[in-house]
Amino acid sequence: MRNIIWFRRDLRIGDHPALVEAIKNSEEIVPLFILDKQQIAEAGEKLLAYMGQSLRALDESLGNKLHIIEGDQVEVLKELIARYDVKEVHISAEYERYGAQRDARVEAAGIPLVRTGSPYAVAPGRVVKPSDATPYRVYTPFYRAWRTHGWRAPAVTPKNIKAPTPPEEYRKFPDFKMPKDVTVIAAGEAAALKRFKEFTKNGLDGYDENRNFAAIDGTSKMSTYLKFGEIHPRTLLANLGESTAHDTFRKEIAWREFYADVLFNNPNTDTEYYAPRFKAMRFDKPGKQFAAWCAGKTGYPFVDAAMRQLVQEGWMHNRTRMVVASFLVKDLHLEWQLGERFFAEHLVDYDVASNAHGWQWTAGTGTDASPYYRVFNPIEQGRRFDVNGDYIRKYVPELKHLSAAEIHEPWLFLDGYSKGYSERIVDHAVERIESLERLKEIKEEKPEQPPRRSS
Ligand SMILES: Cc1cc2nc3c(=O)[nH]c(=O)nc-3n(C[C@H](O)[C@H](O)[C@H](O)COP(=O)(O)OP(=O)(O)OC[C@H]3O[C@@H](n4cnc5c(N)ncnc54)[C@H](O)[C@@H]3O)c2cc1C
Repeated sequence: MRNIIWFRRDLRIGDHPALVEAIKNSEEIVPLFILDKQQIAEAGEKLLAYMGQSLRALDESLGNKLHIIEGDQVEVLKELIARYDVKEVHISAEYERYGAQRDARVEAAGIPLVRTGSPYAVAPGRVVKPSDATPYRVYTPFYRAWRTHGWRAPAVTPKNIKAPTPPEEYRKFPDFKMPKDVTVIAAGEAAALKRFKEFTKNGLDGYDENRNFAAIDGTSKMSTYLKFGEIHPRTLLANLGESTAHDTFRKEIAWREFYADVLFNNPNTDTEYYAPRFKAMRFDKPGKQFAAWCAGKTGYPFVDAAMRQLVQEGWMHNRTRMVVASFLVKDLHLEWQLGERFFAEHLVDYDVASNAHGWQWTAGTGTDASPYYRVFNPIEQGRRFDVNGDYIRKYVPELKHLSAAEIHEPWLFLDGYSKGYSERIVDHAVERIESLERLKEIKEEKPEQPPRRSS
């Protein structure tokens, strides 16, 4: 008798409670990854290429015993259950709509799943208000309650994993190619642990001060590893202290947990407005300006640098994610979902909850308490968070020749456009006012109840 460990968003062997559980009462385990046609059809090229690399790394950790099979989950699991005389199928629980529905479908087909752990330190739905057991809608009280709730210590990494050697037909490693001229972060659990070690040594203690500066490598770059579960958030939280820098880092991990919780409680907010009144707002239709935003040719240097970073690296600094999102919604008057989809296509760390709610937060339609009025000034943001212009110079070669004093407003200088940089597609000062005018039209009132969880 054997147990299957079905890997999905948990491509690691360390701190993996479901793997430990699968090993516990079985002589051998069958490590499995199922290539899901629907997900593949919807995922971005960079993300898929990264996933392919991550699967290779996982396979290596498993002594080349990973079974990779393309097909319908129910059929694949039934085939393996029969072939290997399987007792139980072990998984890490999933909470977002697609994963939860997939697992429910598998169970409905008569395959019992044993859930242990999740991609979070505290599973979505667990942290509730003590007064009435309803979910939190605001981050800060959630954070406090989340800390009070606490989490387990990391699970022990199994020393010896016994698994059958998969036949050739179960070794269908995907051949997704990384697009030309794209460089993403190194994939796999070992790369994640290496990067986290380096960050702990060199970046963590200065995290609170450096994390907003786009040209500095001052953040952990754990987002992609967390997305694929090559590292577990508990591992990141385990040795944090109480300094401001450590607490700031813990708070960022908590944003990920908060958004997962919000999406779990409001499952439609991956595509729908968390604050539904914004649906009535007057937005423009995407056209040339949207194309310029996607191409990093808005004429606003900080915005353009960021959009090009996204396309070239499949990652964007958090500060500039907010700046470009604000620009799309408040300067171009486009709906946040358009930008959310473009991010989904390009981000290697694309995460349904953090992306949709990162967009909604910046658009002012989400969980933020001080909503639509905040309009990021793309010039001032550049001056503050890319003081010397190094970030812009790195991604916008047409502006490389400009000094720190010139680079944020090339239109003010004689040779600002001498290397072919695009002219501004809109005037920020004008569009800011326009945006606030449109807000008046829907007459913002006191905060309303977001839609309640329907399933
Ligand atoms: C419009 C927009 C879209 C976003 N889309 C995504 C996305 O698809 N996937 C994604 O993982 N993050 C997303 N974020 C959040 C954040 O930008 C990234 O998690 C962060 O930039 C990743 O870099 P890092 O790992 O170096 O972060 P660090 O600063 O080192 O933070 C550590 C970890 O905390 C979490 N975290 C940090 N900030 C946030 C945040 N604002 N919201 C949620 N979690 C956070 C991440 O898991 C991150 O890896 C988005 C933010 C915005 C404003």
